[in-house]
Amino acid sequence: MHPEIPKLLQLQERDQRIRVLQKDLKDIPRHELAAKNKLAGDTAAVEAATQKAKEIEVKIKGVELEIQTRRNTIKRLGDQQFETRKNDEFQALGVEIKRYESDVRALEDKELEHMEELEAAKAVLKEAQGVLAATQARVNDELKALAERADGLKKRLAEVEAERASLAAPVDKSALDLYARIFAKKGDQAVSALENGICGGCHMKVVSGTIQAARSGEVLAQCDSCGRILYLVE
Ligand SMILES: [Zn+2]
Repeated sequence: MHPEIPKLLQLQERDQRIRVLQKDLKDIPRHELAAKNKLAGDTAAVEAATQKAKEIEVKIKGVELEIQTRRNTIKRLGDQQFETRKNDEFQALGVEIKRYESDVRALEDKELEHMEELEAAKAVLKEAQGVLAATQARVNDELKALAERADGLKKRLAEVEAERASLAAPVDKSALDLYARIFAKKGDQAVSALENGICGGCHMKVVSGTIQAARSGEVLAQCDSCGRILYLVE
């Protein structure tokens, strides 16, 4: 076996762990987003309920304004009635006042209906806010757990990277370059077992010259198909 192979295998084990840690770390923002998205439906429900209550409040204000306008008119007509000396005008004003008073009663009934609607809308809003608060608490827990996980992954990554650096230091420069190039390209492994004439990386048969090269250990034998560095397992 080529003397660099055992060192490269140790290095490769760290590189594989680094890849997994990096991938897990990269997935964290996606998990955070998924957690936050759980709030969307509950937030929309609170917004809709708030909007509904506001609309009813606007309606109530409108009715109150209409009532006030009619009351002002009634007051004005009453003053006119007080001042007039003509009996027919007095009667006519009285009829008008009654009409406005009946309007006011109808409007007051309407206001009461709207107030009941508002009560119901406020109850819906309160419930929606409760649901949102519960979801928010759950999401906060998830986000906290994810932040802790990210911290743990970063710490572990730094440790493995430090191990990798000290393992890489004594490796022959050209062997290290070759290894690094293949690992970067393949992503999973750069050094594979050669067993029964088959490359453990790509599972293709290699030519007998490659087997002999791997056996001699004088050069770093590479798979004819995938280029991975091979070590013979007999
Ligand atoms: Zn191969």
